[in-house]
Amino acid sequence: MRVLIVGAGLAGLVAADRLRRGGAAVTVLEARERVGGRTHGVEVAPEAAPGAWADAGAAYLGDRHTELLGLLAEHDLKTTPTSTEGSSVFELGDSPDGPRTCPGRFPPLNAVVLGELFDHLADLTSRVDVAAPWNTPGAAELDDTTAAEWAEATLRHPDARVFFPLFLGEMMAADPADISVLHMAFYLRSGGGLRYLNAFEGGAQEYRVDGGAHQLAERLAAELDVRLGAVVTAVHQHAGGVSVLTEDGGRHEADRVVVAIPPVLADGVDFVPQLPATRSTTRTAPGCAVKVQLVYPEPAWREEGLSGWSVNAAGPLLSTVDDSPAGHRVGVLTGFVTGAEAHRFSSLRPQEQRARARTQARRLFPNLPDPLAVHVTDWIADPYARGCYAALFGPGDWLRLGPRLTAPHGRVHWAGTETSTEFFGLMEGAIRSGRRAAAEILTLPGS
Ligand SMILES: Cc1cc2nc3c(=O)[nH]c(=O)nc-3n(C[C@H](O)[C@H](O)[C@H](O)COP(=O)(O)OP(=O)(O)OC[C@H]3O[C@@H](n4cnc5c(N)ncnc54)[C@H](O)[C@@H]3O)c2cc1C
Repeated sequence: MRVLIVGAGLAGLVAADRLRRGGAAVTVLEARERVGGRTHGVEVAPEAAPGAWADAGAAYLGDRHTELLGLLAEHDLKTTPTSTEGSSVFELGDSPDGPRTCPGRFPPLNAVVLGELFDHLADLTSRVDVAAPWNTPGAAELDDTTAAEWAEATLRHPDARVFFPLFLGEMMAADPADISVLHMAFYLRSGGGLRYLNAFEGGAQEYRVDGGAHQLAERLAAELDVRLGAVVTAVHQHAGGVSVLTEDGGRHEADRVVVAIPPVLADGVDFVPQLPATRSTTRTAPGCAVKVQLVYPEPAWREEGLSGWSVNAAGPLLSTVDDSPAGHRVGVLTGFVTGAEAHRFSSLRPQEQRARARTQARRLFPNLPDPLAVHVTDWIADPYARGCYAALFGPGDWLRLGPRLTAPHGRVHWAGTETSTEFFGLMEGAIRSGRRAAAEILTLPGS
């Protein structure tokens, strides 16, 4: 059996690995000049700290990410705890005294109000049919309403209104106006519930991969036939199999194809015969995050009893976290620019982006020296991501797209984190989707 895989992200590589082990002849076609997709490493200061890497894409994982943890172990990769010890910094309103420092991670907002917000969200989340969100009781109404409309109608207290978009930005890189309530509730449930997703200790953000998550894709790819710079433009099925065409005029033949790219990008591929329905709609938002890494000679905030964690209403860095690489002296403060703020930030020139990030870091952590380097990874501008952290399902999307997400189209099978109802949007979801797609092919009669 000859199988072509479109996309060398974790989903495509895991599918390829499984199929190869199952006896198939597998080739992976990848548009970029690197593997890993939305996992991507940056060497933060090659001269001052050679070998110190940080994650410009996916970074965090927790104990429930069992397939990911298993694969890391299989490929001799270790995890390192995310550093969270110390007080947090919050800049949530027009405080004349500037940012506030608070013990732990709880923001200086009305605790009862935030508790009620979490209860509301937990109630919505508990009602979702996670395996088939379109079957959720009341799905049509939940799918028709945006999270912004829900917040407008439900959240009365100003503290809840300030916190809610920051929470969604951090969890999903989503602007509440872009996603349906059904997608918000589904995403939180799929990832293990909002408390699990939001937590460092014992939660989904407990660990990082020592040396960077991108290494997993590199190690998987090392054992596979991967063609880089191969932008797939067409998938044509015929009586004898499937022809896959690439932008550079290449033509590849196979018996089966696994398309493991985000849904918005899949709609740019010419399928013959045509797909029964598109993989995305005009309401499917690509997700929006820019990651900024500020590199310092050392993580000086720790000496002041600070964790490096901050949450900020003003931006551009809506939150920061200590991502200093284990085993190196350098300190790395990662800033997340998400939601509507990410679009504003993405439109700035690189020099201006770096200047604004530096200025804000100095305001949040006044005693920091000048950074050695500032890295900006703009996923909005990346033509091969279009879904960051993952595609955002807008009003109507789950009812329209959901039932077909994994259904094969003849000889074409689907993978990618957006096709997984378990840990949708995360590395774990990508891996599970790759395994499912490979199993579909390996269990075909006669394979
Ligand atoms: C900034 C950021 C932070 C994140 N944080 C986390 C986190 O902390 N924890 C977590 O678990 N997840 C996180 N994620 C999400 C995680 O990265 C993704 O869920 C996962 O990596 C998706 O894998 P995938 O294989 O489904 O898709 P991708 O990684 O997007 O792989 C698809 C591949 O297909 C290629 N491709 C696209 N179009 C074509 C084409 N036409 N022809 C050929 N190849 C094509 C792309 O170049 C890409 O390599 C984050 C993502 C981002 C961007």
